[in-house]
Amino acid sequence: MTEPELALEVEDLVKVYAGSESGQRAVDGVSFTVERGRFFTLLGPSGCGKSTTLRCIAGLEATDEGTITVGGRVVSSHQPKVLVQPHERDIAMVFQSYAIWPHMTVFDNVAFPLRAGRKRRRVARKDVRPRVMEALERVQLAEYAQRLATKLSGGQQQRLALARALVGNPTLLLLDEPLSNLDASLREAMRTELRTLQRDTGVTTLYVTHDQTEALSMSNVVAVMQDGRIVQAGSPREIYRRPMSSFVATFVGRTNLFDATVTGPAASPSALTLDTEVGRIEAVCPEGVGVGDSVSVSVRPEDIRLHAERPLRPNVFDASIIRRMYLGDAVEYNVRVGERQIDTRQHGDVFLRRRQPAWVEFPVEHCVVLSDEFGATADTHADRGTEDEDHDPPDDRAGLLASVFEGAPAAAPVEEGTA
Ligand code: ADP
Repeated sequence: MTEPELALEVEDLVKVYAGSESGQRAVDGVSFTVERGRFFTLLGPSGCGKSTTLRCIAGLEATDEGTITVGGRVVSSHQPKVLVQPHERDIAMVFQSYAIWPHMTVFDNVAFPLRAGRKRRRVARKDVRPRVMEALERVQLAEYAQRLATKLSGGQQQRLALARALVGNPTLLLLDEPLSNLDASLREAMRTELRTLQRDTGVTTLYVTHDQTEALSMSNVVAVMQDGRIVQAGSPREIYRRPMSSFVATFVGRTNLFDATVTGPAASPSALTLDTEVGRIEAVCPEGVGVGDSVSVSVRPEDIRLHAERPLRPNVFDASIIRRMYLGDAVEYNVRVGERQIDTRQHGDVFLRRRQPAWVEFPVEHCVVLSDEFGATADTHADRGTEDEDHDPPDDRAGLLASVFEGAPAAAPVEEGTA
């Protein structure tokens, strides 16, 4: 089998900001690869190093260690020393603030990268108009071509920034929290729009967000970051269903975490018995976990079953219902087992009254034993998309870094003549 072509390879990237406390690493040995045509997301809380990683890839920050390769070309390395300038990297970037040029029309904003790049990347004058109009049509802004960019709504400015980034067919599109300035309903609509646009154009996309819903709904691969490192990478389903640490389990979705000690074998040969604060459970443990070990067990609210009669299965406990919230398609029950409160989410048809006898079940297959203490490493080269079709990657590499400086107007280069 031939290796899939990689649009991006990041190896052992380290970034320390000058003047940071005791040389703290904002990015601490990050490695990952992105196949062409994929949508890859860096997900993590504020300050974990996502934007810094992105900015190093764009060339907006100098790296301290590591190698970055875009479309097979090394753009940043230390041995040998290589440093390709941002506008020579065949990368386009969209910022949270969009950084569109306020003094230009919609058309001129999109035309800018085609007119103003290095000579070898510029597009023949006669080709500018069709390329710009095609990009504007793709984002449904063609009818606004002559409007001043500032006279667009937030969602439209977002699309304009995307059109400008895509017009040069870059090898890699970098998106830094591009939806965070939109209100909730627009953000949801733009999520779908952005993903459709990415699939239609086939542009390899590296997306940065702290929003787990965005990450899970749009990505082929999600890499979760914590304190400057990637702690787990995989398909959205793997990240959600099989978190490897309590950090990932709680950051990506809601869960119930239990401290547990492994006590011995269980009825099922693949499982072990664990003592937890709510009682004895059976669960399948990761390799390396054995009797006597202290672990955590994560059970998602929607995986817990609530029963009005005791089922004859393992991992079932007496429960009292504390709170019930009817949501139409689901009912959330907060229950108490011993001293512990537990969140559960049931199908809308499950209806139990407070004070009636109830039992909770933690199905063995949904008890995820977290292995962070046991040296599990993040498979950061995981690049298996789950659900999608093949993409035809763009082959025209005339891309430019569309607008790389936040608050661009002050730094905006002077526009050259018109098409
Ligand atoms: P994220 O994008 O995940 O919110 P960042 O990459 O912006 O995180 O920041 C990572 C760390 O680097 C944080 O501790 C942040 O305070 C620090 N940092 C970011 N930018 C700078 C800068 N220009 N100078 C000094 N420290 C910075």
